[in-house]
Amino acid sequence: MSDPLMNVYNRAPLALVSGRGAWVFAEDGSTYLDCVGGVATNALGHAHPALVAALTEQAQHLWHVSNIFQIPQQTALADRLVAASFADRVFFANTGSEAVECALKTARRYHAANGQPERIDIIGFEGSFHGRTYAAVNASGNAAYLEGFGPRLPGYLQLNVRDAAGIEAAIAADTTAAVIVEPVQGEGGARALSGEFLQRLRALCTEHGVLLIYDEVQSGMGRTGKLFAHQWFEGVEPDIMALAKALGSGFPVAACLATEAAAKGMTPGAHGSTFGGNPLAMAVAIAAFDEISRPETLMLSRGVGHHLAVELDHLIRRRPDVFVERRGKGMLIGLKLKPNNREFMAAARDRGLLVAGGGDNCIRLLPPLILSREEAEFALERLEQTCDAFGAAPIRAA
Ligand SMILES: *Cc1c(COP(=O)(O)O)cnc(C)c1O
Repeated sequence: MSDPLMNVYNRAPLALVSGRGAWVFAEDGSTYLDCVGGVATNALGHAHPALVAALTEQAQHLWHVSNIFQIPQQTALADRLVAASFADRVFFANTGSEAVECALKTARRYHAANGQPERIDIIGFEGSFHGRTYAAVNASGNAAYLEGFGPRLPGYLQLNVRDAAGIEAAIAADTTAAVIVEPVQGEGGARALSGEFLQRLRALCTEHGVLLIYDEVQSGMGRTGKLFAHQWFEGVEPDIMALAKALGSGFPVAACLATEAAAKGMTPGAHGSTFGGNPLAMAVAIAAFDEISRPETLMLSRGVGHHLAVELDHLIRRRPDVFVERRGKGMLIGLKLKPNNREFMAAARDRGLLVAGGGDNCIRLLPPLILSREEAEFALERLEQTCDAFGAAPIRAA
Protein backbone atom coordinates (compact mmCIF):
# COMPACT_ATOMS: atom_id res chain seq x y z
CA MET A 1 0.00 0.00 0.00
CA SER A 2 1.50 3.34 -0.95
CA ASP A 3 0.44 6.60 0.62
CA PRO A 4 1.54 9.65 -1.38
CA LEU A 5 1.54 11.88 1.73
CA MET A 6 4.50 12.35 4.04
CA ASN A 7 3.63 10.46 7.15
CA VAL A 8 4.03 13.34 9.63
CA TYR A 9 0.52 13.60 11.06
CA ASN A 10 -1.41 11.52 13.54
CA ARG A 11 -4.71 11.85 11.69
CA ALA A 12 -8.15 10.88 12.94
CA PRO A 13 -9.99 8.50 10.59
CA LEU A 14 -12.42 11.19 9.56
CA ALA A 15 -12.75 13.27 6.38
CA LEU A 16 -15.03 16.29 6.72
CA VAL A 17 -16.79 17.68 3.69
CA SER A 18 -18.61 20.76 4.94
CA GLY A 19 -19.27 22.94 7.92
CA ARG A 20 -21.64 25.59 9.18
CA GLY A 21 -21.09 27.61 12.34
CA ALA A 22 -19.79 25.31 15.06
CA TRP A 23 -20.84 22.13 13.22
CA VAL A 24 -19.03 19.95 10.69
CA PHE A 25 -20.32 17.16 8.49
CA ALA A 26 -18.58 14.01 7.21
CA GLU A 27 -18.98 12.14 3.94
CA ASP A 28 -21.23 9.52 5.52
CA GLY A 29 -23.60 12.20 6.84
CA SER A 30 -22.38 12.07 10.45
CA THR A 31 -22.39 15.41 12.29
CA TYR A 32 -19.97 16.75 14.89
CA LEU A 33 -19.75 19.75 17.16
CA ASP A 34 -16.37 21.22 16.27
CA CYS A 35 -14.40 22.10 19.41
CA VAL A 36 -11.12 21.78 17.50
CA GLY A 37 -11.91 24.75 15.29
CA GLY A 38 -8.93 24.08 13.02
CA VAL A 39 -6.87 24.24 16.25
CA ALA A 40 -8.03 27.67 17.49
CA THR A 41 -8.19 29.01 13.95
CA ASN A 42 -11.85 29.07 12.86
CA ALA A 43 -12.84 31.73 15.39
CA LEU A 44 -16.05 32.50 13.52
CA GLY A 45 -16.90 28.87 12.82
CA HIS A 46 -17.40 27.50 9.34
CA ALA A 47 -18.87 29.29 6.32
CA HIS A 48 -19.46 32.56 8.18
CA PRO A 49 -21.48 34.73 5.75
CA ALA A 50 -19.27 37.83 6.19
CA LEU A 51 -16.13 35.81 5.43
CA VAL A 52 -17.65 33.99 2.48
CA ALA A 53 -18.78 37.36 1.07
CA ALA A 54 -15.36 38.99 1.57
CA LEU A 55 -13.53 36.04 0.00
CA THR A 56 -15.79 35.65 -3.05
CA GLU A 57 -15.91 39.39 -3.67
CA GLN A 58 -12.13 39.80 -3.59
CA ALA A 59 -11.59 36.56 -5.57
CA GLN A 60 -13.28 38.17 -8.56
CA HIS A 61 -10.85 41.09 -8.64
CA LEU A 62 -7.31 40.35 -7.51
CA TRP A 63 -5.72 37.50 -5.54
CA HIS A 64 -2.05 38.17 -5.54
CA VAL A 65 0.33 40.82 -6.82
CA SER A 66 3.61 40.84 -4.81
CA ASN A 67 4.95 43.21 -2.24
CA ILE A 68 6.84 45.11 -4.91
CA PHE A 69 3.50 46.97 -5.30
CA GLN A 70 1.31 48.98 -2.94
CA ILE A 71 -1.33 46.80 -1.29
CA PRO A 72 -3.86 49.18 0.27
CA GLN A 73 -5.68 46.32 2.03
CA GLN A 74 -2.52 45.76 4.11
CA THR A 75 -2.68 49.31 5.35
CA ALA A 76 -6.37 48.91 6.14
CA LEU A 77 -5.76 45.81 8.29
CA ALA A 78 -2.56 47.21 9.84
CA ASP A 79 -4.48 50.37 10.84
CA ARG A 80 -7.00 48.19 12.67
CA LEU A 81 -4.32 46.10 14.42
CA VAL A 82 -2.35 49.18 15.45
CA ALA A 83 -5.45 50.96 16.77
CA ALA A 84 -6.35 47.88 18.84
CA SER A 85 -2.91 47.22 20.32
CA PHE A 86 0.45 48.51 21.60
CA ALA A 87 1.92 48.34 18.09
CA ASP A 88 2.92 50.95 15.48
CA ARG A 89 4.17 48.67 12.67
CA VAL A 90 2.93 45.45 11.07
CA PHE A 91 4.49 42.85 8.76
CA PHE A 92 2.17 40.33 7.09
CA ALA A 93 3.05 36.66 6.60
CA ASN A 94 1.13 33.43 6.02
CA THR A 95 1.69 31.19 9.02
CA GLY A 96 2.34 31.40 12.74
CA SER A 97 5.89 30.11 12.34
CA GLU A 98 6.63 32.89 9.87
CA ALA A 99 5.19 35.50 12.22
CA VAL A 100 7.48 34.12 14.93
CA GLU A 101 10.46 34.18 12.52
CA CYS A 102 9.76 37.83 11.79
CA ALA A 103 9.49 38.58 15.52
CA LEU A 104 12.85 36.93 16.26
CA LYS A 105 14.56 38.61 13.30
CA THR A 106 13.06 41.97 14.29
CA ALA A 107 14.50 41.58 17.80
CA ARG A 108 18.02 40.67 16.69
CA ARG A 109 18.01 43.40 14.01
CA TYR A 110 16.95 45.96 16.60
CA HIS A 111 20.04 45.31 18.67
CA ALA A 112 22.29 45.21 15.59
CA ALA A 113 20.87 48.58 14.50
CA ASN A 114 21.63 49.88 18.00
CA GLY A 115 25.28 48.85 17.68
CA GLN A 116 24.90 45.72 19.84
CA PRO A 117 25.06 42.83 17.34
CA GLU A 118 26.28 40.52 20.13
CA ARG A 119 22.78 40.57 21.60
CA ILE A 120 21.36 37.45 19.89
CA ASP A 121 20.07 35.22 22.70
CA ILE A 122 16.38 34.42 22.73
CA ILE A 123 14.94 33.26 26.04
CA GLY A 124 11.99 30.87 25.74
CA PHE A 125 10.14 28.66 28.22
CA GLU A 126 9.72 24.96 28.83
CA GLY A 127 6.46 23.62 27.43
CA SER A 128 6.17 26.43 24.87
CA PHE A 129 5.35 26.02 21.19
CA HIS A 130 6.31 28.57 18.56
CA GLY A 131 6.05 26.64 15.28
CA ARG A 132 8.02 24.29 13.06
CA THR A 133 10.60 26.32 11.17
CA TYR A 134 14.22 25.99 12.34
CA ALA A 135 14.11 29.17 14.40
CA ALA A 136 10.69 28.32 15.82
CA VAL A 137 11.63 24.79 16.92
CA ASN A 138 14.80 26.14 18.50
CA ALA A 139 12.80 28.77 20.36
CA SER A 140 10.20 26.20 21.49
CA GLY A 141 10.50 24.35 24.77
CA ASN A 142 9.94 20.88 23.34
CA ALA A 143 13.22 19.10 22.56
CA ALA A 144 11.41 16.34 20.62
CA TYR A 145 10.79 18.74 17.74
CA LEU A 146 14.56 19.19 17.30
CA GLU A 147 15.45 15.49 17.12
CA GLY A 148 17.26 14.45 13.95
CA PHE A 149 17.42 17.92 12.49
CA GLY A 150 21.06 18.61 13.19
CA PRO A 151 22.61 20.77 15.87
CA ARG A 152 20.63 23.19 17.98
CA LEU A 153 20.96 26.74 16.64
CA PRO A 154 23.08 29.07 18.77
CA GLY A 155 21.31 31.77 20.73
CA TYR A 156 18.27 29.96 22.14
CA LEU A 157 17.65 28.91 25.71
CA GLN A 158 14.64 27.59 27.57
CA LEU A 159 13.83 28.25 31.19
CA ASN A 160 11.18 27.01 33.57
CA VAL A 161 8.51 29.65 34.30
CA ARG A 162 8.99 28.95 38.03
CA ASP A 163 12.75 29.59 37.91
CA ALA A 164 12.58 33.26 38.94
CA ALA A 165 16.32 33.59 39.67
CA GLY A 166 17.32 31.90 36.39
CA ILE A 167 14.98 34.15 34.42
CA GLU A 168 16.33 37.27 36.08
CA ALA A 169 19.95 36.27 35.43
CA ALA A 170 19.27 35.37 31.79
CA ILE A 171 17.49 38.65 31.06
CA ALA A 172 20.35 40.58 32.69
CA ALA A 173 23.00 38.87 30.52
CA ASP A 174 24.58 41.25 27.99
CA THR A 175 24.08 38.86 25.04
CA THR A 176 20.32 38.63 25.49
CA ALA A 177 18.15 39.97 22.66
CA ALA A 178 14.60 39.02 23.61
CA VAL A 179 12.22 36.93 25.66
CA ILE A 180 9.50 35.04 23.77
CA VAL A 181 6.45 33.80 25.65
CA GLU A 182 2.87 32.69 25.03
CA PRO A 183 0.64 34.56 27.53
CA VAL A 184 -1.45 31.38 27.47
CA GLN A 185 0.55 28.33 26.37
CA GLY A 186 -1.45 26.44 23.73
CA GLU A 187 0.02 23.17 22.41
CA GLY A 188 2.01 22.66 25.59
CA GLY A 189 -1.15 22.11 27.64
CA ALA A 190 -3.23 25.30 27.88
CA ARG A 191 -1.35 26.95 30.74
CA ALA A 192 -2.32 30.57 31.43
CA LEU A 193 0.49 32.71 32.84
CA SER A 194 -0.37 35.10 35.65
CA GLY A 195 -0.47 38.87 35.35
CA GLU A 196 2.25 39.10 38.02
CA PHE A 197 4.56 36.86 35.99
CA LEU A 198 4.08 38.94 32.83
CA GLN A 199 4.49 42.20 34.78
CA ARG A 200 7.76 40.90 36.21
CA LEU A 201 8.98 39.87 32.73
CA ARG A 202 8.03 43.29 31.35
CA ALA A 203 9.84 45.13 34.12
CA LEU A 204 13.01 43.01 33.79
CA CYS A 205 13.07 43.39 29.99
CA THR A 206 12.65 47.17 30.24
CA GLU A 207 15.35 47.41 32.89
CA HIS A 208 17.90 45.50 30.78
CA GLY A 209 17.02 46.77 27.30
CA VAL A 210 15.72 43.33 26.25
CA LEU A 211 12.72 43.08 23.91
CA LEU A 212 9.58 41.27 25.05
CA ILE A 213 7.88 39.15 22.38
CA TYR A 214 4.42 37.66 22.86
CA ASP A 215 3.49 34.70 20.75
CA GLU A 216 -0.28 35.23 20.59
CA VAL A 217 -0.66 33.03 17.52
CA GLN A 218 -3.10 30.86 19.48
CA SER A 219 -4.20 33.08 22.39
CA GLY A 220 -4.87 36.18 20.25
CA MET A 221 -7.82 37.36 18.19
CA GLY A 222 -10.47 36.98 20.86
CA ARG A 223 -9.64 33.43 21.96
CA THR A 224 -9.48 34.35 25.66
CA GLY A 225 -12.32 36.89 25.59
CA LYS A 226 -10.12 39.94 24.97
CA LEU A 227 -8.75 40.72 21.53
CA PHE A 228 -5.29 39.76 22.83
CA ALA A 229 -4.74 37.60 25.92
CA HIS A 230 -2.18 39.96 27.47
CA GLN A 231 -4.82 42.71 27.49
CA TRP A 232 -6.33 41.08 30.60
CA PHE A 233 -3.46 42.68 32.54
CA GLU A 234 -2.11 46.19 33.07
CA GLY A 235 1.50 47.10 32.43
CA VAL A 236 2.46 44.03 30.42
CA GLU A 237 2.50 45.28 26.82
CA PRO A 238 5.17 43.66 24.63
CA ASP A 239 7.53 45.22 22.10
CA ILE A 240 6.70 42.63 19.44
CA MET A 241 3.81 40.20 18.95
CA ALA A 242 3.16 37.29 16.58
CA LEU A 243 -0.40 36.60 15.36
CA ALA A 244 -1.82 33.98 13.00
CA LYS A 245 -4.40 31.21 13.51
CA ALA A 246 -7.69 33.14 14.01
CA LEU A 247 -6.41 36.26 12.23
CA GLY A 248 -7.97 34.94 9.01
CA SER A 249 -10.49 32.75 10.83
CA GLY A 250 -9.43 29.78 8.67
CA PHE A 251 -7.68 31.54 5.80
CA PRO A 252 -3.87 31.37 6.04
CA VAL A 253 -2.61 34.76 7.16
CA ALA A 254 -0.26 35.93 9.90
CA ALA A 255 1.19 39.14 11.26
CA CYS A 256 4.14 40.37 13.26
CA LEU A 257 3.37 43.56 15.19
CA ALA A 258 5.99 45.84 16.72
CA THR A 259 6.44 49.23 18.31
CA GLU A 260 8.14 51.91 16.22
CA ALA A 261 11.27 51.53 18.36
CA ALA A 262 11.42 47.71 18.14
CA ALA A 263 10.91 47.81 14.34
CA LYS A 264 13.94 50.09 13.98
CA GLY A 265 16.07 47.49 12.18
CA MET A 266 13.40 46.37 9.72
CA THR A 267 14.50 48.46 6.77
CA PRO A 268 14.09 47.76 3.03
CA GLY A 269 15.58 44.39 2.12
CA ALA A 270 15.78 43.16 5.72
CA HIS A 271 12.83 40.78 5.38
CA GLY A 272 10.09 39.80 2.96
CA SER A 273 7.51 37.28 1.80
CA THR A 274 6.07 36.30 -1.58
CA PHE A 275 2.53 35.58 -0.47
CA GLY A 276 2.46 37.55 2.78
CA GLY A 277 -0.34 40.09 2.88
CA ASN A 278 -1.79 39.38 -0.54
CA PRO A 279 -5.13 41.04 -1.35
CA LEU A 280 -7.16 37.83 -0.96
CA ALA A 281 -5.76 37.10 2.52
CA MET A 282 -6.18 40.74 3.54
CA ALA A 283 -9.82 40.88 2.41
CA VAL A 284 -10.70 37.84 4.53
CA ALA A 285 -8.65 39.01 7.50
CA ILE A 286 -10.23 42.46 7.49
CA ALA A 287 -13.70 40.86 7.53
CA ALA A 288 -12.60 38.48 10.30
CA PHE A 289 -11.09 41.31 12.33
CA ASP A 290 -14.25 43.41 12.08
CA GLU A 291 -16.42 40.48 13.27
CA ILE A 292 -14.12 39.25 16.04
CA SER A 293 -13.36 42.70 17.46
CA ARG A 294 -17.05 43.64 17.78
CA PRO A 295 -17.77 44.13 21.49
CA GLU A 296 -20.79 41.80 21.19
CA THR A 297 -18.67 38.95 19.77
CA LEU A 298 -16.16 39.19 22.61
CA MET A 299 -18.86 39.68 25.26
CA LEU A 300 -20.89 36.67 24.10
CA SER A 301 -17.80 34.47 23.93
CA ARG A 302 -16.80 35.56 27.45
CA GLY A 303 -20.26 34.57 28.67
CA VAL A 304 -20.20 31.14 27.04
CA GLY A 305 -16.56 30.63 28.09
CA HIS A 306 -17.47 31.40 31.70
CA HIS A 307 -20.44 29.03 31.57
CA LEU A 308 -18.21 26.26 30.20
CA ALA A 309 -15.62 26.88 32.91
CA VAL A 310 -18.21 26.65 35.71
CA GLU A 311 -19.85 23.54 34.29
CA LEU A 312 -16.52 21.87 33.51
CA ASP A 313 -15.44 22.41 37.12
CA HIS A 314 -18.62 20.61 38.23
CA LEU A 315 -17.89 17.80 35.78
CA ILE A 316 -14.31 17.49 37.04
CA ARG A 317 -15.61 17.18 40.62
CA ARG A 318 -18.06 14.47 39.55
CA ARG A 319 -15.42 12.59 37.56
CA PRO A 320 -12.10 12.65 39.46
CA ASP A 321 -11.50 9.24 37.85
CA VAL A 322 -11.13 10.95 34.46
CA PHE A 323 -10.03 14.57 35.03
CA VAL A 324 -7.04 16.03 36.86
CA GLU A 325 -7.72 19.74 36.33
CA ARG A 326 -9.02 22.49 34.08
CA ARG A 327 -6.61 25.02 32.58
CA GLY A 328 -6.48 27.86 30.10
CA LYS A 329 -8.55 30.97 29.65
CA GLY A 330 -11.78 31.89 27.85
CA MET A 331 -12.28 29.64 24.85
CA LEU A 332 -8.77 28.21 25.11
CA ILE A 333 -9.71 25.41 27.47
CA GLY A 334 -7.45 22.59 28.58
CA LEU A 335 -8.49 19.52 30.55
CA LYS A 336 -5.70 17.38 31.96
CA LEU A 337 -6.78 13.75 31.89
CA LYS A 338 -6.01 10.49 33.68
CA PRO A 339 -6.84 8.22 30.74
CA ASN A 340 -4.82 8.62 27.53
CA ASN A 341 -5.85 11.84 25.77
CA ARG A 342 -5.76 10.29 22.26
CA GLU A 343 -8.14 7.51 23.34
CA PHE A 344 -10.41 10.07 24.99
CA MET A 345 -10.46 12.19 21.81
CA ALA A 346 -11.48 9.15 19.74
CA ALA A 347 -14.24 8.24 22.22
CA ALA A 348 -15.57 11.83 22.19
CA ARG A 349 -15.54 11.75 18.39
CA ASP A 350 -17.65 8.57 18.46
CA ARG A 351 -20.14 10.62 20.50
CA GLY A 352 -20.29 13.55 18.06
CA LEU A 353 -17.77 15.89 19.72
CA LEU A 354 -14.42 16.90 18.21
CA VAL A 355 -11.74 18.03 20.67
CA ALA A 356 -8.03 18.73 20.16
CA GLY A 357 -5.08 17.15 21.94
CA GLY A 358 -2.38 18.95 23.84
CA GLY A 359 0.84 18.38 25.76
CA ASP A 360 0.89 16.98 29.30
CA ASN A 361 -1.96 14.54 28.44
CA CYS A 362 -4.48 17.33 27.95
CA ILE A 363 -7.39 17.69 25.64
CA ARG A 364 -8.20 21.17 24.43
CA LEU A 365 -11.60 22.66 23.68
CA LEU A 366 -11.09 25.42 21.11
CA PRO A 367 -14.63 26.12 19.90
CA PRO A 368 -15.55 29.06 17.70
CA LEU A 369 -16.11 32.31 19.63
CA ILE A 370 -19.69 32.25 18.34
CA LEU A 371 -20.53 29.01 20.20
CA SER A 372 -24.07 29.26 21.60
CA ARG A 373 -25.21 28.25 25.08
CA GLU A 374 -27.06 25.29 23.58
CA GLU A 375 -23.94 24.18 21.75
CA ALA A 376 -21.93 24.51 24.96
CA GLU A 377 -24.51 22.28 26.68
CA PHE A 378 -24.15 19.74 23.88
CA ALA A 379 -20.36 19.73 24.37
CA LEU A 380 -20.72 19.24 28.14
CA GLU A 381 -23.25 16.43 27.73
CA ARG A 382 -21.08 14.58 25.20
CA LEU A 383 -17.99 15.02 27.38
CA GLU A 384 -19.85 13.47 30.28
CA GLN A 385 -20.99 10.57 28.09
CA THR A 386 -17.38 10.11 26.98
CA CYS A 387 -16.33 9.86 30.63
CA ASP A 388 -18.60 6.84 31.00
CA ALA A 389 -16.33 4.95 28.60
CA PHE A 390 -13.43 5.48 31.03
CA GLY A 391 -12.60 5.07 34.69
CA ALA A 392 -14.91 4.25 37.57
CA ALA A 393 -18.53 5.28 38.23
CA PRO A 394 -19.31 9.00 38.66
CA ILE A 395 -19.46 10.55 42.12
CA ARG A 396 -23.01 11.79 42.64
CA ALA A 397 -23.76 14.66 44.98
CA ALA A 398 -25.18 13.37 48.30
C1 LIG B 1 0.14 27.17 15.98
C2 LIG B 1 1.16 27.99 16.65
C3 LIG B 1 2.33 28.41 15.99
C4 LIG B 1 2.69 27.97 14.59
O1 LIG B 1 1.77 28.35 13.64
P1 LIG B 1 1.83 27.69 12.16
O2 LIG B 1 0.78 28.46 11.41
O3 LIG B 1 1.52 26.24 12.33
O4 LIG B 1 3.19 27.91 11.62
C5 LIG B 1 3.19 29.25 16.67
N1 LIG B 1 2.94 29.64 17.93
C6 LIG B 1 1.84 29.25 18.61
C7 LIG B 1 1.61 29.74 19.99
C8 LIG B 1 0.92 28.39 18.00
O5 LIG B 1 -0.14 27.98 18.67
